[in-house]
Amino acid sequence: MIHRFHFRLLMLFALIIIVTIGTASLLASIMLTDRIQQYEKEVMHARLVSIERLLLRNFSFRGELTGGMPFLEQLGVLYGQRIIVTDTSGIVLADSQGEMVGREYKAPSEGTPLKQRGAESPVIGMLYLVPVENDPSSTKSLIESINLYLVIGGIIAIIVAIIASFLLSQRIVKPVQDLTYAARRLERGDYSGRVHFKGRGEIAELAHAFNAMTGSLERAEQLRRNLVTDVAHELRTPLSNIRGQVEAIDDKLLEPDAGTLSSIHSDVLLLSRLIDDLQYLSLAESGKLKLVMQPEEIGRLIEDAIAAARPKAAAAGVKLISDVPDDMPACTVDAQRISQVLRNLLDNAIAHTPMSGVITVSSKSDNGFIKVTVSDTGEGIPKEDIPNIFERFYRVDKSRARATGGAGLGLTISKRLVESHGGTITAESEAGKGSRFTFTLPTAV
Ligand code: ADP
Repeated sequence: MIHRFHFRLLMLFALIIIVTIGTASLLASIMLTDRIQQYEKEVMHARLVSIERLLLRNFSFRGELTGGMPFLEQLGVLYGQRIIVTDTSGIVLADSQGEMVGREYKAPSEGTPLKQRGAESPVIGMLYLVPVENDPSSTKSLIESINLYLVIGGIIAIIVAIIASFLLSQRIVKPVQDLTYAARRLERGDYSGRVHFKGRGEIAELAHAFNAMTGSLERAEQLRRNLVTDVAHELRTPLSNIRGQVEAIDDKLLEPDAGTLSSIHSDVLLLSRLIDDLQYLSLAESGKLKLVMQPEEIGRLIEDAIAAARPKAAAAGVKLISDVPDDMPACTVDAQRISQVLRNLLDNAIAHTPMSGVITVSSKSDNGFIKVTVSDTGEGIPKEDIPNIFERFYRVDKSRARATGGAGLGLTISKRLVESHGGTITAESEAGKGSRFTFTLPTAV
């Protein structure tokens, strides 16, 4: 296909070049021939007039046309023309080449009648200017050599232009070729192909867009694979717990008492929370989560979230402090979603802060945004983990997180929710000293 494209492109270039150069040469040849012929006509006329005058003057002096005019021969050489003078009956009186004198001349072209002014019978002879055969200085051979040069020049120009367009079409076709190969690899599921094209313009843009598309497909494919692995991993533990307990009951190794049922129930709850979170995340990521946006007092939302978290904090022996100014501007948000973000940050802070720790929720208005910070004096997050904590299923301490029941989806969901409001969420932390999560929301949405 590509070779056909290359070939067609080259043929098109060649056709354009041949037509252009051919037309230009043809026009130049026609124009030059026309000009030269016109010039020759004028020169011939001037020569005729001057020879005619000479002959007539000679006649008026001597009473004969050509007698005493040996210079006719030189004049013929000078003009590159054969000069023939005949009398009224067509007998040659003078010939610049000397051959025809005394003979009858059968003129191939019309001659100029020589007329003496004032006489009764004015025509006294005929004057003929005949082009000399094979004269290298004649206009005919001049035109021929100009045409020859035009043809040679045209052929050279066509060859050079075709070579140049072959190289150019190769330059155009090469990235298209690369794109086709990369697209075929993509079709086979190989996402590593990229098009390397140095340059600018539409083709470079196309190559760039293709690479960007392949990159995002590669990331999406990687995420899909990770997701399947992570989900399978997350489901396996509670499911094998349930299975183990149910089989033990079946084998009469375990009593189906309240404690066993409660343990099975908590695994079932874990599973359904995981499924809910996944569904929620998938909605948020595909942009299908409907936000019910309303002007809200952010201070009140924070206070409500703190109030809801108090029993949990008290049970964990952690102090909860609110540091929210009264004059916070209203924010247009989906109150339920923002409460969910706050709940998640507070749950995390409580889960990762030891007894007698302090959790502070503060907020301030800053440059068209509201900034909400949840900081704790807990265990903190190691520096190398901070960039990953907003990733799906990422947990710093796998074993501990399992004990707290988190699947590593809470922060991912929070990030999506904040971003869908036009805000950002960041984390800062110092291992052993505490963590600080900050999210922003635009005041005017
Ligand atoms: P999880 O459901 O495990 O809490 P999250 O997405 O909410 O998942 O959090 C991801 C991980 O980030 C947690 O497993 C935990 O290791 C770490 N993390 C989150 N908040 C805190 C915090 N306040 N202090 C220390 N670590 C935290």
